[in-house]
Amino acid sequence: MTDGRQKSVYAIAGAAAAAGLLALGLQTWYGSRKRGLFRQLRKQMLLDDAGLVLVRDDFCKQMVDGLAKDRPSSLLMIPSMVDIIPTGNERGEYLALDLGGTNFRCVYIKLGEGKGQIDDVKIEQCEIPEHHFTSPAQDLFAFMADRMVTFAKKLGFSRARDGERPVVGFCFSFPCEHISLNSGKLIRWTKKFANPGAVGNDPVQMLEEAFDKIDFPVDVDCMVNDTVGVLAAARYVDSSVMIGMILGTGTNACYVEKIDNVQKLQQTPRKRRRTMIINIEWGAFTSKTLPKLDFDRDLDASSTNPGAMQLEKLTSGMYLGEVTRRILLKFAEETGLFGGPVPTLQEEDALTTPDTSKIDHDSTFFGGPTADILRSELGLGHWQTFWDRQLVRDIVRLVAQRSSQLIAAGIAALLRQMERDGTFGPMERTVVAVDGGMFQHYRAFREELLSALERIMGVEAAHQIVLKHQQDGSSMGAVTMAGAAAPSQVGPD
Ligand code: ADP
Ligand code: MG
Repeated sequence: MTDGRQKSVYAIAGAAAAAGLLALGLQTWYGSRKRGLFRQLRKQMLLDDAGLVLVRDDFCKQMVDGLAKDRPSSLLMIPSMVDIIPTGNERGEYLALDLGGTNFRCVYIKLGEGKGQIDDVKIEQCEIPEHHFTSPAQDLFAFMADRMVTFAKKLGFSRARDGERPVVGFCFSFPCEHISLNSGKLIRWTKKFANPGAVGNDPVQMLEEAFDKIDFPVDVDCMVNDTVGVLAAARYVDSSVMIGMILGTGTNACYVEKIDNVQKLQQTPRKRRRTMIINIEWGAFTSKTLPKLDFDRDLDASSTNPGAMQLEKLTSGMYLGEVTRRILLKFAEETGLFGGPVPTLQEEDALTTPDTSKIDHDSTFFGGPTADILRSELGLGHWQTFWDRQLVRDIVRLVAQRSSQLIAAGIAALLRQMERDGTFGPMERTVVAVDGGMFQHYRAFREELLSALERIMGVEAAHQIVLKHQQDGSSMGAVTMAGAAAPSQVGPD
C-alpha cells in the first residue's frame, strides 16, 4: 500500500471513529436528558409517605365538611336515601332498568330461597338510537318503557300479575338530588345526554308516567346510581362489603355511613335504620395536596369542564391515555424524544387508556408490542429506539402509579371515616366492590393499587382489604335494591 493510500485509510477510519463517538456522546447526552426529565417528573408526580397522608387527611376533612349542613367541600356527599341495604334474605322476582352510558339495559332477577341465592338472571342490552340522546326527555323515557315492556312480557310478566304491579328498580347514573329512595331531581345531564325537559324533574315520576301511557303500570321503588348499585349488588351476597367503587370512563365511590353523621339530611329516615349509603361523587375531589403538573393543567383547560373533576382527570380511564400523550409531547419538545414533537403526537386523545395499558402489559425484552402501538396510534415508525421504548413504558407506568396512589388515598380516607382502617381497633376484613372497564382490564393498575394501599395503610391492614370485581354491578344492584325496597321485604339493617 502506498503512503498516500495508507493515510487516507487512516483518515477514513479516524473520521468514522469520531462520528461513532459523537453519535454515542449525543445518544448518552440525549439519553441522560431524557432520564433526567423522567426522574424529575417521577419525583413530582408520585407521593412519598407524607404526601399520601396529606391527601388522605384532606379527603377525610372534605368528607366531614360535605356531610355537614353548609360547609364548603368539593365532595358532594349525596345522601342516596338508600337506608335499606340488601341482606341476601330478599325473595321474589324483580325488573330493573339501567341507564348510564351509550346503552341501556333491561334486567330481570329471581331471588331464591337460600341466603344470597340468585335463581335466575336475564339481562338484555339495548342500543339507544342516536336521536334519543337529544330528543325530548318524554320520548327517551317512552322508548325505554316500551323496550322494557317487551322484555317483561317475554318473561311472562303481565299487566296485573297476581293483582300487583311489577316492581322495577331504576339505575340512573346521573347526578340527582334525592328526596327519597324513589324520588329526586335531576341536577344535570352528563356524558352524551342532553334531553330537554328532564333537569329539575323527577326521573322516577317520568319513568312511571311513561309506563302508564302504554297501559303497563309499574312501581319504580328505587333509583340508584351505578356506584350505589355496585355496593348493593355485592352486599346481597357478602355483608362485609362496605364500599362501592367505579373505575371506568370516570371514577366514583360510595360507602355505608352512620345516619347520625349525615348532618345535612333533611328528611327523617325510617326510624329503625342506622346507616345510609352516601354517594361521594369523588371524581370532583379538588385539593392542593393533589400532585398536578403543567400537562395536567393544560388537559384540564382544554376539557369540556375546566376546573371540575380534578381527581377524575388524574385517575380514570377517560384521561390516563391523554395524560401519557401530553407527557410524551413534553419529552419530545424538551429532550428531542422521537425526533421532536411530530404532528401525530399533538393530536388530542391520540392515545387511549386501553392503548397505554397494553404498553404497560408488554413484558417482552425488546418492546415489540409497545413499538406496534406507537406506530399504529402515533405514527412513530422510525424515530423510536430501544431506549425510547423503555422510556415510554416507564412513563406509562408512572401515570398508572400516580392514579393508583390517589385512588388508594381515597379508599384509606373512606376506611378512616368508617373507623375501619385499623386505628380504631383491630382491622376487620373489608370488601370494596368495584366495577368499570379500567379496573377490570388493567391488571398492572390493580397491582399498583394494592401496593399503594400497603404503603398508606401498612401491610397488615392492607391485607384485610379485598378489591372485588363486581360484574354488571350497576344493573344487578338496581334489581337487588328493588327487592330490598319492596314492601313485602322485612329484612333488618
Ligand atoms: P363506563 O365507565 O362508561 O360505564 P366501562 O365501565 O365499560 O364503561 O369502562 C369503559 C372505560 O374503561 C373505557 O373508557 C376505558 O377508559 C377503560 N378501559 C376499557 N378497556 C380498558 C383496558 N384494556 N385497559 C385500561 N382501561 C380500559
Ligand atoms: Mg358503567
